[in-house]
Amino acid sequence: MKIANTILDLIGDTPLVKLHKVTDGLTATVLVKLEYLNPGGSAKDRIAVRIIDAAERDGLLKPGGTIVEPTSGNTGVGLALVAQQRGYKCVFVLPDKVGEDKRNVLTAYGAEIVVTPTSVAPEDPESYYSVSDRLARDIPGAFKPNQYFNPNGPLSHYETTGPEIWRDTDGTVTHFVAGVGTGGTITGTGRYLREVSNDAVRIIGADPEGSVYSGGTGRPYLVEGVGEDFWPGAYDPTVVHEVIAVSDADSFAMTRRLALEEGILVGGSSGMAVVAALRAAEKLGPEDTIVVLLPDGGRGYLGKIFNDGWMRSYGFSNAPVGHTVANLLE
Ligand code: PMP
Repeated sequence: MKIANTILDLIGDTPLVKLHKVTDGLTATVLVKLEYLNPGGSAKDRIAVRIIDAAERDGLLKPGGTIVEPTSGNTGVGLALVAQQRGYKCVFVLPDKVGEDKRNVLTAYGAEIVVTPTSVAPEDPESYYSVSDRLARDIPGAFKPNQYFNPNGPLSHYETTGPEIWRDTDGTVTHFVAGVGTGGTITGTGRYLREVSNDAVRIIGADPEGSVYSGGTGRPYLVEGVGEDFWPGAYDPTVVHEVIAVSDADSFAMTRRLALEEGILVGGSSGMAVVAALRAAEKLGPEDTIVVLLPDGGRGYLGKIFNDGWMRSYGFSNAPVGHTVANLLE
């Protein structure tokens, strides 16, 4: 019998698959790791388990406690899923720009959400940050994971993502590419792969143009979940050999190509990471194997990256589209 006891037992052990079409003309092997196959749909399930385990162990989270975090995305889903299975409540604070679908997925898992105005400064008492700090202080038994500074984020990738990649490639991986948001994925996975390979694996970050990791100041970009305007404690820049900056236009065009040509429906930060990997692969040969981590699936972006009107409204006209009935009938 092959039966998981609870949904949490299905977190991690995600597969690697080789790219064939978007790698045309390159000789290096490019493999992608599909984190959307985690039960909550992203790599963030991994950090949620580890952060909650550590908080229980350290006495920060007691039976019946409440998890409070400012998050609108994948971390919220991961935390809500683990919290629900362990009997904790969740309160997520999100800015009002977050769409209804993203709010609904959090409430579907049983989380409470508090919506704050986007148009106020971080120090304003109504801001995303101020409200979550206040709730974490005032709700009895509250625990704030603080994913940008919690060491258990990178540790979860050091203990699971890195070893999975090493095992599944039989130690043949030569390069690892991941987008940088909190920095937890690249720091933990990269550290493990460097250690286990005697420093032979090269670690490459992918970053939206304008973000601090690739030398910017935090200029706005549209790709979600990656890039920052500050340096989080979860990121250790000494692990990373190189950071490649990718434009929104290139990230989104590749995100569409992955769905259209490889059958892989993923989010914009995945497209961004693949663009960075292909740029690195231009200088590599048949002896090289690049593993690219794809953090989440594309269903959360159907109204944006996969919507022609939305793409055009931001001037992204070079996005590949599928065939039309008219040209099939020609
Ligand atoms: N892509 C997406 C869609 C994400 O939600 C995140 C997490 N913020 C990342 C990439 C980056 O992962 P990390 O925080 O581990 O750097």
